[in-house]
Amino acid sequence: MATVVLKANRDQRVTSGYLWVFAGEIARIEGPVEDGGVVDVRTYRGGWIGRGFINRNSALTVRLVTFGHEAIDEAFFRRRLQDALAYRQRVVGTQSAVRGVYGEADGLPALIVDRYGPRVVVQTLALAMDLRKRMLVELLTDLLHPDAIYERNDAPVRRLEGLPLQSGWLQGDADPVVEIEEERARFLVDVARGQKTGFFLDQRENRLAAAALCEGATVLDAFCYTGAFAVHAALAGAASVMGIESSDEAAAMARRHATLNGVEDRYTVTVANAFDELRRLQSVHARFDVIILDPPPFARGKETVDRALAGYKEINLRALKLLRPGGVLITCSCSHHVGEALLLDVVAAAAVDAQRTVRLIESRGQSRDHPVHLAMPETRYLTCLILEARGRST
Ligand code: SAH
Repeated sequence: MATVVLKANRDQRVTSGYLWVFAGEIARIEGPVEDGGVVDVRTYRGGWIGRGFINRNSALTVRLVTFGHEAIDEAFFRRRLQDALAYRQRVVGTQSAVRGVYGEADGLPALIVDRYGPRVVVQTLALAMDLRKRMLVELLTDLLHPDAIYERNDAPVRRLEGLPLQSGWLQGDADPVVEIEEERARFLVDVARGQKTGFFLDQRENRLAAAALCEGATVLDAFCYTGAFAVHAALAGAASVMGIESSDEAAAMARRHATLNGVEDRYTVTVANAFDELRRLQSVHARFDVIILDPPPFARGKETVDRALAGYKEINLRALKLLRPGGVLITCSCSHHVGEALLLDVVAAAAVDAQRTVRLIESRGQSRDHPVHLAMPETRYLTCLILEARGRST
């Protein structure tokens, strides 16, 4: 087994449970190993750290998979997959759509497995996982019995690993559009053309929390994608729901979802840039009881945080101005770099400008099938704040 020896004093993070070793932390590599293969990782003085996958073409050079001495063979992958699926069974229960594997948080670095009813979608976002794709497909077939498995390896992060962007059926050949149920709601998920792997499973529990506040309310769902928040709000008894979405295709699917769920009489979707549409709604003095803001990640890296904060501030300010006194703002950031503290700062600043008193009802994160690994802050990326916006005098 080849060994990656870390530089002196560069092992504190991994000995505290962090799973990534960057190129600059490595003193030398002893013994031959192919990229994508397994290496032992040791401290400069030879102390044992663990075992992981190497890719010298990536700045993220080693992804640790175990701090033990176990063999990284098929039985290892089977055990980790079984663990991951058992965890979902325990904390999510029976849902027809669930994230079965969430990468590092499940001890399976860079592997994503989403189950949508009978179909499974896989992402292998690092070289080692990509090389083991056939074995993973066989194991997943055995454990989940899907009718087909689709690969959504068109995620740009693959480029950092020297991997091509590609998608298609890995096993079977089924309709890419599959119907799922999420509590009372029914949705169609297009695993081939939808965003991410087709659906935002990470917001499942936040959608239900939001819907619980929507009875009798006029609701605005900005950045609505295929309308999952909106459908839940309508099913929970919202008086009316308006969606805003920039993608024609997503908006068309949102309208199908309105019909599929029998709420088309109370649900409309506008194709527009949400920034412009929020401004227009303000100019015509529109008012809402509940506003949901679930924008795409404005900050993809640390460098873009300032610009992102300006974007979050603008939409939150506009939303606060559109809310009736006592209205509810559900505002999200799906960027790891704009977490709870920063998003609260943004809303606080927007509240000052909008002259509203805002109270935090609840701060939430990603749904339970996307667990946060405490030693890997990168695994926490979704913040969902539920706030009440009071009048200016309270
Ligand atoms: N809330 C959704 C997920 C939203 S993802 C759910 O639960 O399923 C963010 C959405 O915002 C995407 O569908 C994207 O197409 C859309 N979007 C991105 N920029 C936008 C803009 N400027 N105006 C309106 N929609 C936008």
